[in-house]
Amino acid sequence: MFAIGCIQSRSCHTDACPTGVATQDPVRQRALVVPDKAERVYRYHANTIHMLSEMMGAAGLSHPSQITADLLMTRDTNGQAVPFSSKETTLEQGALLGSLEHVERLPEPFASHWVAADASRFGVERLA
Ligand code: SF4
Repeated sequence: MFAIGCIQSRSCHTDACPTGVATQDPVRQRALVVPDKAERVYRYHANTIHMLSEMMGAAGLSHPSQITADLLMTRDTNGQAVPFSSKETTLEQGALLGSLEHVERLPEPFASHWVAADASRFGVERLA
């Protein structure tokens, strides 16, 4: 999104995107010069792949499939670096396809997120 000019004005849903990225308005669409943005997107992805290969090389890996949650670090609430695998919560296949009456059986944070989900709107107000 940044590579094609998104400035995060967060008005995608209004059809008034100031950069022409997310609009059906032909006048606003003129702000998005496709040949220029195509080159930017190409360079963005080329650099992403380059940096991924450098990080994998530094970690002694030869394929992205070797990247696991044990190798990726985050910080816990005390500021200590911990592997993502220590925070990993998994769901059984199909666990989110059942009725909401069994939502309490879902592990957190899935349960609270699932209850807060609403197909009619965007937003996270009910999570607060
Ligand atoms: S309205 Fe356009 S510029 Fe704003 S966030 Fe959406 S895509 Fe990005």
